[in-house]
Amino acid sequence: APIISIRNLTKTYSNGFQALKGIDLDVEKGEILALLGPNGAGKTTMISIVCGITNPSTGTVTVGGHDVVREFRATRTMIGLVPQELTTDQFETVWNTVSFSRGLHGKKPNPAHIERVLRDLSLWDKRDNMLRQLSGGMKRRVLIAKALSHEPEILFLDEPTAGVDVTLRKDMWHVVERLRASGVTIILTTHYIEEAEEIADRVGVINDGKLLLVEEKKTLMAKL
Ligand code: ADP
Ligand code: ADP
Repeated sequence: APIISIRNLTKTYSNGFQALKGIDLDVEKGEILALLGPNGAGKTTMISIVCGITNPSTGTVTVGGHDVVREFRATRTMIGLVPQELTTDQFETVWNTVSFSRGLHGKKPNPAHIERVLRDLSLWDKRDNMLRQLSGGMKRRVLIAKALSHEPEILFLDEPTAGVDVTLRKDMWHVVERLRASGVTIILTTHYIEEAEEIADRVGVINDGKLLLVEEKKTLMAKL
């Protein structure tokens, strides 16, 4: 069974704006899916619904077979969300930031897991540094480490490379590529076609609240 299943999903915000107009999508365990689309297409709305942060207007979303609205707690612990901006205390250390995030997700401390995450993201040597001492690229890695702190099966990355330079973008692609090996299912949003091409197995194109197509990367690139 797919790890994420979305059926007839619509979202109309309270001001009457229809951000999603009927989305159907299955995501298989272990795949990397890129959601490609311009600003305002509905990407963040869709992610927020799957994460249980926003309620759908109609339709159903299941994560690991659980309904994201009725079984919020069960589905939320399965998901790690990497937001666009670092909102964490800049005067806290990397180690404490990531360990504390695990606690916020209701998990018991597991220093061995935190160590593994920090090593995988090449943050181990920086663990006692304060966030304010880190470069932009290292701060982005901390966001990912926080999202992996509670051992989620699914990782959402919302515009992971928006507004970063080419070097940092390639660095992030490399990080995502390495995460694949750990078996985490990865869904990222982007408006860079090269990004979708570089790291995804499948690409979904979203525009004006509709999923125009979802294809294997190879098939899609042949069409463009
Ligand atoms: P994307 O992530 O693709 O840029 P969003 O999901 O953030 O798109 O937004 C889709 C559309 O929904 C945009 O036109 C945005 O202005 C609108 N929107 C987002 N949040 C709200 C809200 N809380 N109330 C009304 N409209 C919203
Ligand atoms: P608390 O303040 O909640 O007691 P600690 O800071 O003592 O938490 O850390 C809890 C666990 O994490 C301990 O097992 C400790 O050894 C480990 N730990 C703390 N800081 C580091 C670090 N910089 N590198 C590796 N392990 C650490």
